[in-house]
Amino acid sequence: MLDTLKNRIKQGYRTTEYPKKTIALPARYRGLPKISQHSDSKIINICADACPQDAINIEKKKVDMGRCVFCGTCEKLSDGQFIKFTQNFEYSVANKEHLLTSGTLPDLAKHSKQHFKKLFGRSLQLRQVSAAGCNACEADLNVLATPFFDLARFGINFVASPRHADGLVVTGPISKNMKTALIQTYEAMPEPKVVIAVGSCAITGGPFRGYPEVSDGLDSIIPVDLYIPGCPPHPLTNLHALLTFFKKNV
Ligand code: SF4
Ligand code: SF4
Repeated sequence: MLDTLKNRIKQGYRTTEYPKKTIALPARYRGLPKISQHSDSKIINICADACPQDAINIEKKKVDMGRCVFCGTCEKLSDGQFIKFTQNFEYSVANKEHLLTSGTLPDLAKHSKQHFKKLFGRSLQLRQVSAAGCNACEADLNVLATPFFDLARFGINFVASPRHADGLVVTGPISKNMKTALIQTYEAMPEPKVVIAVGSCAITGGPFRGYPEVSDGLDSIIPVDLYIPGCPPHPLTNLHALLTFFKKNV
């Protein structure tokens, strides 16, 4: 017992002070991309041709973050002249069309549904469904329960049954085999309910986009309220999205 107490004192308080204080991520982290509107069309074409996700819109000079897997190929090829990834991890959106971006996103707080804040601001219970995800999106959601992120301090928890849940968090490209289970989970949740798509797979099919075995995105099956892009989204991206969209004062 004494050893446990000593260890506890030695460890101190390990939970992040985010969102009260900003947090710096490692230099190699790729967050919200900044896209130059003045780049040479030759460079843009080279990047678009090399993009494995067909995520670069040449005409609009924008990136579809719903498709992007943040591989960094475009940044490398353009030497940061066309696309440069920033350290900004706060890049979730409420409307899917906002994911096609030149690097400026609308303020998520202003697009949050106010009645959700009223309903779920103090307590939000989430059911997670991995619909054929690779387990990276799932792992970065799981980590929110660890002492560092301590999601429960905000009244947000993951629960075992859709009957106990206010919201559905979906990861993965929604394979044919998982579609029925996903719909049944959604239907088992009581109203009012919210739906959150986490990761490029759930938003657009991600690396599996276009294959007949997967869907074209969660919103083609059930209505989606919040999109958290990334492959996988950083836990802080998930945390920021949940707090900004559902909490009143953070
Ligand atoms: S970082 Fe995104 S936009 Fe750039 S090449 Fe990779 S998938 Fe395409
Ligand atoms: S978005 Fe990326 S990390 Fe998430 S399930 Fe799909 S492939 Fe895995």
